[in-house]
Amino acid sequence: MNESDSQRMASLFELMGLKESALIEEADLIIVNMCSVRQSAVDRILGLANKFRELKKKKRTLKTILTGCVLELDKKKFVKIFDFLLNKDDMEVWPEILTGEDVIKRKRDYLRIIPKRSSTFQGFVPISNGCDNFCTYCAVPYTRGRLRSRKHTDILKEVKVLVKDEYKEIWLLGENVNSYLSPINNEVNFAKLIKMIDQIPGDFWLRFTSPHPKDFSDELIEVLAKSTKFAPYINLPAQSGDDIILRKMNRPYTAKQYLELVKKIKKSFKENRKGLDKNVAISTDIIVGFPTETEEQFKNTYKLFKSAKFDMAFIAQYSPRPQSHSYKNMRDDVLKKEKKERHKRLTELLCSIGEKNNEIFEGRIIPVLVFEKYKGYYLGRNRQNKAVKILSKEENLVGKIINVKVNRVLPLTLEAEYYGE
Ligand code: SF4
Repeated sequence: MNESDSQRMASLFELMGLKESALIEEADLIIVNMCSVRQSAVDRILGLANKFRELKKKKRTLKTILTGCVLELDKKKFVKIFDFLLNKDDMEVWPEILTGEDVIKRKRDYLRIIPKRSSTFQGFVPISNGCDNFCTYCAVPYTRGRLRSRKHTDILKEVKVLVKDEYKEIWLLGENVNSYLSPINNEVNFAKLIKMIDQIPGDFWLRFTSPHPKDFSDELIEVLAKSTKFAPYINLPAQSGDDIILRKMNRPYTAKQYLELVKKIKKSFKENRKGLDKNVAISTDIIVGFPTETEEQFKNTYKLFKSAKFDMAFIAQYSPRPQSHSYKNMRDDVLKKEKKERHKRLTELLCSIGEKNNEIFEGRIIPVLVFEKYKGYYLGRNRQNKAVKILSKEENLVGKIINVKVNRVLPLTLEAEYYGE
């Protein structure tokens, strides 16, 4: 989401006559688009203070801006480091703010700014902003605000431009994509939006992030399984496998309901898709060491993890986020050592499940979208969003969908050789 917002900022500054600088030392204006989801990210930005001081000694006219998800509590610290703290929702009037002009009062929608895409083959399209769910560990509803869905007509327009420009992979973005509801008529929900995008002629892989399990309807499952554009990969954040912890997190589902959902999704893809696409890859987000989480409760998460057979997982050790409910009302009482240990156990489990899941690709010829060349190899992702390392003497494969032959499967990667376009 932040990367997508940054592309709109880049476009805005270009309109103001500024050019991107390759070196921070040469810049006249530095903008930091921050994320507060982890304390480590916040600390990294606090650590910029010295660097800015040095740069300002050399260039007195240098200005610095902080934007993105900034917690109220952190603002006091950042105000001492940055010249401007700007709200991204006001992006349309940043030029006025920066030049000290009077800000015209009008309804603002920064998503109207046409982004300056940083990739020629992977495009991000925000479909909503903010969230109404108030999971107790999360600060998003406070930093990004309540859920606001974009008009489906604007989304379709943006997707069509990307398809016309031959983008190969299009991501729909939102903090909770599947609670999307078009403000035009309250009829176009997320499933209907996917259906509309599916009808756009063109050759592209459609993806989205992130959905909430509670909003994953049967209608959506069917649309996704029958879609010709949706690449079979779903990130489905579970956060925990213990019902008591889930309740404390304000996640309104049980481990049993979550696993039933996973089963339903997998079954629908098996019934509606052909070939390797029958296998939908499912990843998840897990927090270990949430306040009061006991060893027994962690074991329930371990159990859920094993049953869901996740292809990938983003495992976080709980850290209280200022402004969130858990920060204000719960004691961070699981020892750091314990959190680390639980993280390690889940990572080991992920690797063993991942390797088993990847066996279906062994010896197969599969399409891969190539992202970059690194140390003599190309790196890409297949339709299930698995990382693929490709051996090839071909020139200029970046940005193309190519065929590769998988020679070896590892827990979280596939190794392959080029097989043709
Ligand atoms: S659904 Fe996601 S963004 Fe919304 S409150 Fe929960 S964790 Fe935060």
